[in-house]
Amino acid sequence: MRCDFLQLATRGVRGLHPYEPGKPIEELERELGISDIVKLASNENPLGAGPKARAALGRCLGDVSRYPDGNGHGLKAALAERLGVPREALTLGNGSNDVLELIVRAFVTPEHEVLYSQHAFAVYALATQAVGARAVVAPAHEWGHDLEAMAKAVSERTRVVFVANPNNPTGTWVGSSALGEFAARLPRDVLLVVDEAYREYVADQDYPHCTTWIDAMPNTIVTRTFSKVHGLAGLRVGYCVSDPAVAEVLNRVRQPFNVNAPALAAASAALDDEAHVRESVALNAAGLEKLSAAFARMGLACIPSAGNFVSVDVGRPADTVYGGLLGEGVIVRPIASYGLPNHLRVTVGLDEENERFLCALERVLSRLGS
Ligand SMILES: *Cc1c(COP(=O)(O)O)cnc(C)c1O
Repeated sequence: MRCDFLQLATRGVRGLHPYEPGKPIEELERELGISDIVKLASNENPLGAGPKARAALGRCLGDVSRYPDGNGHGLKAALAERLGVPREALTLGNGSNDVLELIVRAFVTPEHEVLYSQHAFAVYALATQAVGARAVVAPAHEWGHDLEAMAKAVSERTRVVFVANPNNPTGTWVGSSALGEFAARLPRDVLLVVDEAYREYVADQDYPHCTTWIDAMPNTIVTRTFSKVHGLAGLRVGYCVSDPAVAEVLNRVRQPFNVNAPALAAASAALDDEAHVRESVALNAAGLEKLSAAFARMGLACIPSAGNFVSVDVGRPADTVYGGLLGEGVIVRPIASYGLPNHLRVTVGLDEENERFLCALERVLSRLGS
C-alpha cells in the first residue's frame, strides 16, 4: 500500500493551505492567447527597479558562480548608516517573508499563541500554522487593526504579535501614539513585530518610527522589504531591525546564504536611489487618488489606503468581477480568503494601467448589471 505522506507531515503542516499568489501574466497570456496584459495584483512597483539597482545587477552577474556574502556585510553597513542603527540590529531575509518566518520558527512552539488582526496579511497565519501554534485573531475595526481589541487578546501564552502597518490587503494603518501605547502595555517577553512593507508610501505625519523604540522596548521587531517601493520583488530581499540579542537568535535559524548575491548588490544600490523612491511614491499618490475618485464616481466604496494598493467593494461576490476582469486582460486580486468576499484589491499602476483597469471594471460591472 502507498504511504500516506500527508499523515507523515507534522501536525502544523497538515493543516496548512499554501499561499495563493497573484496570477502570473504568462499564465493569463497562455489562457487567453493575448498579450498586453495589465497586472495589478501583487503590489509591485509599476516603474520597476530604479536605475541604480539595475546597474548594480548588471555589474554583479560575473560573480554568480561565487556564494554570496552570508553575512550580507555590504547591505548591512548601508542599512546601518541610513537607519542609524548598529549593524548587529539587522537581520537580512529572502524577502521580509523569510524574516517573518524566522521569527516564528525561532520563538514560537505549539504551546504558544500568535496574535494578529482579522484581515491581516496572510503570511502571519501561515507561519503560525506551520509551527503548529495557536493563532488568535483579534476582530478588526473598520477593516483596520483594533489595538484595543488586540491588547485584550494577549494571554500568558502569547509569544508574538504581528501588526502590519500599513496592512495588506486593507491599506489601513495605525498612528504613533496608539501603537506606542499598545507596545508599552505588552509584556516584555511578547515580541511585537511591526511589518512596515509599505512604510515609504505612507504620507501621514503621525506614522510611527518604531525603530527608535527598540532601545526602550527591546521586544520590538520592525520588518521591511525591498519588494515594494524599491521594485525588487523578484530578487527576494528584506530585513528586520531588532535588539541585537533578538538578531543573534534569528541568525541561528536562518539559512547560511538566505539572501542571494544579485539581491544584496541591487538592494544596496536601491537604498541610495532616493530619486527612484521619490518618483515611485509620487506616482503612487497620484494614482491612488485617481482610483479612489473613480470608485466614488462609480458608486463603489473603497477602504482608505496608505499603501500602493486599494481594496474596493464591488457590491457583490467579487470573484465574478475578478473573472470578468481577467477576460479583459486585467489581473487584480480577489481577497475573499481575507474575509473580504466583496472586495478586490488593486495595485496602483502606471496611469495607462489604472485607466485600462477602470475601463475594464466599468464594462464588467455594466455587463453584470448593478
Ligand atoms: C508584500 C508584503 C510583505 C513582504 O514581501 P517580501 O517580498 O517577502 O518582502 C510583507 N508584509 C506585507 C504586509 C506585505 O504586503
